[in-house]
Amino acid sequence: MDFANTQIELAQTLDSQDQLAPFRDEFVIADPDLIYLDGNSLGRLPKRTDPLMQAAIGEAWGQRLIRGWNEGWIQAPFELGAKIAQLIGAEADEVIVTDSTSVNLFKLVVAALKARPGRTKIVSDVFNFPSDLYIIQGVIDLLEQQHRLELIPSGDRLTIAPEAITAAIDVETALVSLTHVAFKSAFMYDMAAVTEQAHRAGALMLWDLSHSVGAVPVDLNGAGVDLAVGCTYKYLNGGPGAPAFLYVRRDLQTALRQPIWGWLGAANPFTFDLDYTPAPNIGRFWVGTPPVLSLKAIAPAVELLLAAGIDRLRAKSMAQTEYLIFLADRWLTPLGFSVGSPRQADRRGSHVSLRHPEAYRINRALIEAEPPALRVIPDFREPDNLRCGVAPLYNSFTDIHRAMERLKTIVTERLYEAYSAERAAVT
Ligand SMILES: *Cc1c(COP(=O)(O)O)cnc(C)c1O
Repeated sequence: MDFANTQIELAQTLDSQDQLAPFRDEFVIADPDLIYLDGNSLGRLPKRTDPLMQAAIGEAWGQRLIRGWNEGWIQAPFELGAKIAQLIGAEADEVIVTDSTSVNLFKLVVAALKARPGRTKIVSDVFNFPSDLYIIQGVIDLLEQQHRLELIPSGDRLTIAPEAITAAIDVETALVSLTHVAFKSAFMYDMAAVTEQAHRAGALMLWDLSHSVGAVPVDLNGAGVDLAVGCTYKYLNGGPGAPAFLYVRRDLQTALRQPIWGWLGAANPFTFDLDYTPAPNIGRFWVGTPPVLSLKAIAPAVELLLAAGIDRLRAKSMAQTEYLIFLADRWLTPLGFSVGSPRQADRRGSHVSLRHPEAYRINRALIEAEPPALRVIPDFREPDNLRCGVAPLYNSFTDIHRAMERLKTIVTERLYEAYSAERAAVT
């Protein structure tokens, strides 16, 4: 995409032409002088969520009490799963919302390895989110069956080459477990091509969609994907610690067994049998009593995303990340920044990493500035990434312009030097 100039008027024109612009008003934006570029870590609060939570607490919990279970609570993990399924190209009965992403990954990795006895290799990559790699390492330790984890390397810290994928997946491979959009560089895999490679080798394919769902089109059924997990507090705006989802392809559901045999994953929880029989469907991947209040908070943004349409969201997100990179090239590269994300828009998710040796202090200066200075919230990822997340449902082109201009000022005027490089507990 070509942009004529770096003037704010261009951003304003792009906003005026944006068909999705009205969705911004669906979100709580308490401070107009705070630019939020961290929707890929914790999405903004939808306005509809507040009254919904008030009702869930005051009416459902407060007045209906335990009767609530038969008035929708017990179905919530499935109903919400069916909604999320529409965003990721799955059938309604292939997705359930439960536990955290890490715990869901644990359940599915164990299930997958047990379904491929004799195969000892698990393939992942050096871009994967550490929790995903730790979970796999923990499963290897638990099973004691001489599995080993092989990480596909990256030659350029930005992308994974097709030859490197081909070299890693072989007949020893039980499972290929990858994150679709990398949390640091935003590199995005060709899901269908990699899934086909895994299947050709006889391995199962598991995708982590945490940085994809709600931001880029995903077609799990179209790509023939076996297993997937994903997060709901990022682009799905479900709130801090909102429960995650998992997907198991329908024809695999009864063939797989996950290792946490809780009562709600049983075929008939309320007969209170002394021996476990797993449910004959996606329900067997469920464990225990769901966090009903947290589940309630997930639906509003999923409905907004479905109304906006994932293809329109993706087109806007690509234009916005292109625009961000355009401004970064003009303004920030001369100041020592480099773009830490793929330049090819179709190989990039919805965030852009900007690298700078002082990224940590620059990040603090962006966030902690005193009014009337503009505040900007991106996030920092070691060692030098300033990660700018674009949530096309509520970020405007003007947001991006203002944030990049502020970044330029902070570095030009060396405002970051007033901050310590000592890391906070959560970065
Ligand atoms: C955000 C994220 C997670 C989060 O896992 P939790 O169990 O919710 O802490 C896992 N994997 C990836 C790739 C993520 O981006």
